Amino acid sequence: MTRDHIRNTGAMMTSPRCGAATRSGTACRAPAVQGKTRCRMHGGARRSGAPRGNQNARTHGEFTRDAAAERRQVRDVLEDARKLLRELS
Ligand SMILES: [Zn+2]
Repeated sequence: MTRDHIRNTGAMMTSPRCGAATRSGTACRAPAVQGKTRCRMHGGARRSGAPRGNQNARTHGEFTRDAAAERRQVRDVLEDARKLLRELS
């Protein structure tokens, strides 16, 4: 059997890839489900994951949207203050 055609997988491989850690320690790299960051086998499948606003899945709230937004805001304020201090000195 001859392999006389050139494989053209470049465009296909530019699609977002799954970043789940495999047992060998590398990333999965299977195509991610549209609109998600994981493939169909690593939590990207339909109806997988906790429903939005699921309070049963909440333990400390460190990773909620609100907590992340608050951290971002604090970080921005500190960055602005540092910039101002640099300009004054
Ligand atoms: Zn995967």
